[in-house]
Amino acid sequence: MRSPQKRRSPRKAGNGAQAGGLSAWRVYHKSSRADQWRDRLPDPANYYSARLPKLSRPNGAGWAQARCPFHEDRHASLSVNLVHGGWRCFAGCGAGDLLSFHERLTGMSFRDAVAELTGGAA
Ligand SMILES: [Zn+2]
Repeated sequence: MRSPQKRRSPRKAGNGAQAGGLSAWRVYHKSSRADQWRDRLPDPANYYSARLPKLSRPNGAGWAQARCPFHEDRHASLSVNLVHGGWRCFAGCGAGDLLSFHERLTGMSFRDAVAELTGGAA
């Protein structure tokens, strides 16, 4: 009767690994719930067109060009994505998401930028 029990132990270890995977899944979902304020961020198309006066029409992937507000831009060095909100300055100002754009544009902290853009606390 001992040998069948011994055979079960490797299977038990397998279950343990599965349980670890499940808890990782739970952590992932917990953090995405804490991230729900991201759903309340403004529509990138509205946000960027209100702040970038000469925004071009977006290409098929949603990227549009404008003068970069972070440096003296004589060309349209800034690309913003009107679908997911990402931005990138090809003159070297960096890149980020809509929230980091707002932080940088206003000089606000992360928390204040989230609060202003979502109309509530982070
Ligand atoms: Zn720039």
